[in-house]
Amino acid sequence: MPVFDVKNIRKDFPILSRRNLNEKPLIYFDNAATTQKPAIVIETIRNYYENINSNVHRGVHFLSEEATTKFEEAREKIRSFINADSVEEIIFVRGTTEAINLVATSFCRGKIKENDEIIISFLEHHSNIVPWQLLCECTGAVLKVIPINSNGDLMFDEFEKLLNERTKFIALNHISNAIGTVNPIEEIIKTAHKRNIPVLIDGAQSIQHKKIDVKKLDCDFFAFSGHKVYGPTGIGILYGKKEILDAMPPYQGGGEMISSVSFEKTDYNVLPYKFEAGTPNIADAIGLASAVEYISKIGMDNIENYEKEIFEYATNKLSGIEGLKIIGTAKQKANIISFLLNDFHPYDVGAILDNEGIAVRTGMHCAEPLIKFFSKIGTVRVSFAFYNMREEVDKLVEAIYKAKKLLG
Ligand code: PLP
Repeated sequence: MPVFDVKNIRKDFPILSRRNLNEKPLIYFDNAATTQKPAIVIETIRNYYENINSNVHRGVHFLSEEATTKFEEAREKIRSFINADSVEEIIFVRGTTEAINLVATSFCRGKIKENDEIIISFLEHHSNIVPWQLLCECTGAVLKVIPINSNGDLMFDEFEKLLNERTKFIALNHISNAIGTVNPIEEIIKTAHKRNIPVLIDGAQSIQHKKIDVKKLDCDFFAFSGHKVYGPTGIGILYGKKEILDAMPPYQGGGEMISSVSFEKTDYNVLPYKFEAGTPNIADAIGLASAVEYISKIGMDNIENYEKEIFEYATNKLSGIEGLKIIGTAKQKANIISFLLNDFHPYDVGAILDNEGIAVRTGMHCAEPLIKFFSKIGTVRVSFAFYNMREEVDKLVEAIYKAKKLLG
């Protein structure tokens, strides 16, 4: 296993040497919103536009061939990163949101009928709520929600009670972006499969922190965004089992997703192109592959172990601050701490931290039903990446004391 040296790793991320308007060094604790990019990813994208830029799968010229090769190599690197069986199962999309919309629109089109049931959890991001609501609106299906307890754990018994012959699909996140709960997705998938119910995992908050093996998980779909895993924005992945993707109708129509078109009838392309209408985001697909290669070199086990240490250190430190209440204390948690400080508005706390150079997120975190269950005014959210350090957590604690003084 390679040695994990955070000080060296930080040198790979140019933005980490920035200062805020008060000349305070940046402490970036907004990693659940988006992660920073290592120089190799930035360089890969620059190189693509400087030397390779062309459209894929079409031209006879050498640039188009090079672009196509790089683009398809990127797909293979991502396949290997999540251990999918074949590149046909790797669909390039814009991000987690588009991946879930693709499945909700395409997989469920025609298959879902009035009074069928779709299960999601109380812990979902809006991206894994609204596409299913849209589906229910147009089919008459019913959305069921797995409840949580007051710590923010999913109630597994209640999940089992929701299952019945009308249940047609389950979609839930691996890690909650708002309170950090790690869901028991292995058990959920096993339980669902006993009844032949397909499961989609929203991996937007796990792909960057844990080794994901889609074969071992046996999930039917897995969705993630490039920008949360140290890659560019505007690119993401939908993994789907080949036999399921094969049986699904296309999501969007256009170039690339067809094999032949006439005014009478269009034949669709093979996987994965059937789901990639139009010119894809070539540069960012290649950039994403470079990001997953970069973190694979560091080692996902190294990343998970180091982040666990930082997360536990921060949890202990923050728990010791009088008046600070951690929101979400599930048995299995990772990388994300949401909190309230006395009765101060989270926005005010966030603004004071920002003055100190500390970037956090405040508000509902795109998980309004979940956050409102705990707090009507939102929370302050701190989220970690493997380039964060204990010293930064100490600075956060100092800044929270400062906020207490100023706001109190
Ligand atoms: N699901 C979860 C759990 C998320 O945290 C996010 C983003 O924060 C999304 C879905 C949506 O991701 P994107 O906006 O990249 O599509």
